[in-house]
Amino acid sequence: MKPLSGQPISWFRAGTIALAMACAPVCVLWGADADVAAASITADDLMRHIRTLASDEFEGRAPGTKGEQLTVGYLTAEFQRLSLKPGNPDGTYVQAVPLVGATATDVSVSYRAGESRTDLAFPGEAVVWTKRYVPEINVSDSELVFVGYGVVAPEYGWDDFKDVDVRGKTIVILINDPPVPDPNDPLKLDDKVFKGPAMTYYGRWTYKYEIAAKQGATAAIIVHETGPAGYPWAVVEGSNSRENFDLQSADRNMSRVAVEGWIALDKARQLFAAAGQDFDQLKRAALGRDFKPVPLGAKASFRIRNMLREVASQNVIAKLEGSDPKLRNEYVLYTAHWDHLGRNTALAGDQIFNGARDNASGVATLLELAKAFRRLKTAPRRTILFLSVTAEEKGLLGAKHYAAHPLYPLARTLADFNIDSANTWGRTRDVSVIGFGQSTLEDVLRDVATARGRMLTPDAEPEKGRYYRSDHFEFARVGVPGLYLQSGVQFIGKPQEFGRQKIDAYTANDYHKVTDEIKADWDLSGAADDARLLFEVGLRVANGESYPQWKAGSEFKARREEMLKKAGEK
Ligand SMILES: [Zn+2]
Repeated sequence: MKPLSGQPISWFRAGTIALAMACAPVCVLWGADADVAAASITADDLMRHIRTLASDEFEGRAPGTKGEQLTVGYLTAEFQRLSLKPGNPDGTYVQAVPLVGATATDVSVSYRAGESRTDLAFPGEAVVWTKRYVPEINVSDSELVFVGYGVVAPEYGWDDFKDVDVRGKTIVILINDPPVPDPNDPLKLDDKVFKGPAMTYYGRWTYKYEIAAKQGATAAIIVHETGPAGYPWAVVEGSNSRENFDLQSADRNMSRVAVEGWIALDKARQLFAAAGQDFDQLKRAALGRDFKPVPLGAKASFRIRNMLREVASQNVIAKLEGSDPKLRNEYVLYTAHWDHLGRNTALAGDQIFNGARDNASGVATLLELAKAFRRLKTAPRRTILFLSVTAEEKGLLGAKHYAAHPLYPLARTLADFNIDSANTWGRTRDVSVIGFGQSTLEDVLRDVATARGRMLTPDAEPEKGRYYRSDHFEFARVGVPGLYLQSGVQFIGKPQEFGRQKIDAYTANDYHKVTDEIKADWDLSGAADDARLLFEVGLRVANGESYPQWKAGSEFKARREEMLKKAGEK
C-alpha cells in the first residue's frame, strides 16, 4: 500500500485520469459530476440547518432531553429526505448509546494544613466529581502529594511517579505535558521530548485521571492554568459543575479514582503556600526527569453526593452504498457531534447553550456533505457513512461508544473526517489542519486544496492538544486515520490579524457559553468552501487505490498496523 499522495495537479484532471484508467469511458465525466455535486453545498443551506439546530426550541441539544428528540428527529428526516439508507444494519438511522448521568447534589472540598482548615467553594474555586456510579463518596484527610505533570512515558524515559506509593492519596497534577526547554536554546522547547510545543496525549486531562487510577490514587486534582489547558476556568466550571455523563460500564466505574477534579490556579497557590511550599518552584522542578513526587504536608477531604440516572441517548447514522461491488464493504466516515450543553435553569436570563458554532455548524456541514454525495450520478466506489454522534461534550462518549461497538469493521474503515465548529467568518485562503503531520489524509487534502487555490495551515496552537479533543480522536485511538480541519486564519479581504482576533474572541466570550449563537456578522461562505474540500478529499479516498496511513511518528500508527494485520489474518 502506498500513501495516497501525488503531484499537486488539478483535482479535476487527477480524478478524471484516475477513473478513466480505472473504469472505461463512461467514467470520464466523473470529474464534472463531482464538481456539480460539490457546488450543491451552499452557505444558505448551512445557515438553514444551523437556524433550526441552534434554535431555543432545541434547548441546547443535551443528551436525554427534548433537545435530543428534536435533533435526532431532524437528522433522521433530513437523511430520509436525501434518500440515504439507514446507517444501522438493523434498518434504523440510530445507534443506541446508553449513558449514566450523575448530578452532584452536595459537594464539599476542603484541606487542612497544620491547624487551619480551608474550604474551597464549588464550583467557583474547585470543581470535583466522581465517575464511580455510587450515590456518595467520602474521603477524609487524604494526604496531598504533588506529582508534577503526572506523566509516565517510557518512550521519553519519563516517570513522574518514580517508585513513590500514592495509593490512597490525593495527587495534585499540572495540566499539559512537561514543557522541557531545548538544552541548546532555552527559549525553545525540546522537540525530542513530548513533541516540543505540541501537546501529546500525556497533556490531556483525561490522561491525568487514567494514570491516577493506574497508580491507585484516591483523588486526582488538576491545577488549572488557562494557557496550558487551552481554555479558561469558566469552561472547566461550566462543563463539570452540572450533570456528568459516562458510558454505562459493567464495573460501575469502580476502577476509576474516587474523586476527579480541578482547582483554580490562585487557590492552588494558596494551598501550596498554606503547606509551606512554593508552587512556582515545584512547578519548575517538575520539568526535570529527576523530579519526584513531593508530599505537601497537607490533607484533603471531599464529600460528593450524587443523584444518578440512566439516559438512553443516540448516535444518528446514514449511509450511501458504494457503487463498486468489490469495494462497497469498505467505508469512509464523516462525523460531527450533534450534542451541546443544553440548558441551565439556575442561570438568570438566557439559560440555553445554543451551540450554534459548536456544533450546529458542524452538523449542518455533515448534512451538506450528505447532500453533495447524494448528488453524484455515480456513487463513490466505497460506502460513505454519515455519523452524527452524541455526548461529545461529555467526553467524546458517542464516538467512543461507536469505536467500541462499530456498526462496520474499523479495519475496513479507511478514514474519519470530523467536523467540530465550522468557519463562521467568511472565506479564507487557507484551512487549518489540527494534528498537522499525523496522516496521509493531509496529503490528499493538500492536493485538493491546491487545485482550489487554497493552502494548508498547521494548527496554530498545537500546545492546546485539539487533536485529542474531538470525536475523530476516539477513532484515532483505535487506529482509524482521522482528519480534523478548522477554519483557516487568512481571511480574504480582511486584515492579517482578523482571523486570530475572531478565534480568540470566540474562545474568550462565547465558547461553551449561552452566547454561542448565530451572530449578525456570520458569513458561511468559508464554511461552504471547507465543506467542498472535505467532500472532495472523502471522494478521492472513497475512490482511491490505497488506504490512507498514519505517518511515521504518529502515536496511532502501530495500532492501525496491528489492526490491519489482524484483519488480514482472518
Ligand atoms: Zn464541539
